Amino acid sequence: MASFYSGVYIMGVTGGQAQDDQAQDGPASQHSMVIVPMDAPGLQVVRNIPVMHHHAPEGNCELLFRNVRVPAANILGQEGNGFKLAQQRLGPGRVHHCMRTIGQCELALELMCKRALERKAFGRHIADFANVQDWIAETRLEIDQARLLVLKVAHRMDREGNAAARVDVSAIKIVAARLQTRVVNRAMQVFGAMGLTPDTPLSYLWTWGRAMRFLDGPDEVHLRVVAREELAKTRSNPGGNAAHFVPPAGLMAD
Ligand SMILES: Cc1cc2nc3c(=O)[nH]c(=O)nc-3n(C[C@H](O)[C@H](O)[C@H](O)COP(=O)(O)OP(=O)(O)OC[C@H]3O[C@@H](n4cnc5c(N)ncnc54)[C@H](O)[C@@H]3O)c2cc1C
Repeated sequence: MASFYSGVYIMGVTGGQAQDDQAQDGPASQHSMVIVPMDAPGLQVVRNIPVMHHHAPEGNCELLFRNVRVPAANILGQEGNGFKLAQQRLGPGRVHHCMRTIGQCELALELMCKRALERKAFGRHIADFANVQDWIAETRLEIDQARLLVLKVAHRMDREGNAAARVDVSAIKIVAARLQTRVVNRAMQVFGAMGLTPDTPLSYLWTWGRAMRFLDGPDEVHLRVVAREELAKTRSNPGGNAAHFVPPAGLMAD
């Protein structure tokens, strides 16, 4: 397999005293990133794994490490900082995925409308069917909602930094991936069988949208992040919404 890289970054738990010392900072401080040159003895590229039949030239590879040794100087940053480094890249990376999703959904909507105006079934243009009009309208609403959320996250990152936008990033990551499969699914339906063929980009975009529900973390993990934040807000404000509860009349008599 041709290699475009001279090395890989791996992240793993680093042991020994350093880990014990850093345990006080929680489990997030137990990981380190290490650069491993591709020609390091013991490193083998087993295969480049396609994702929903998408082949990435740069590779989503299965790597085998057999007693690979590298100098301590190959640690990226400080020992125990791996998780932090990964998080710095992940937030902005996720927003980029979402921006591409918005663009791909716009394309799907355009294609859907064009096809609906051109194609006739049962003597009418497909655009004349009420359910197709609903799909088109809902798609526009959903894309615009998602776009506003993406802009909100990007704005917050710019103003307050990546860490402050962590929960918003999780939210938009879920919204965008779900949007892509939903919107492209509608477009494929409007196209009929042609929507499933390589004659349009739709099936490609749908499978990528499906993969997006894993790339950068599965939906469920990001939902947990959002839920934890909501619960934390309520926990930090005990009794804060007491005014909304109406005590039974009997308790109010005195
Ligand atoms: C090409 C590619 C690139 C990727 N890039 C990234 C990346 O850059 N950053 C990144 O973070 N991830 C990335 N991922 C996702 C990551 O590699 C894992 O696939 C993902 O973290 C899920 O882990 P897993 O596949 O081992 O599944 P498992 O951990 O076995 O999870 C399987 C299922 O269990 C459920 N589950 C797991 N954990 C929880 C939980 N905490 N709460 C509720 N349900 C749960 C979910 O339904 C999940 O789908 C990428 C994936 C692919 C395919």
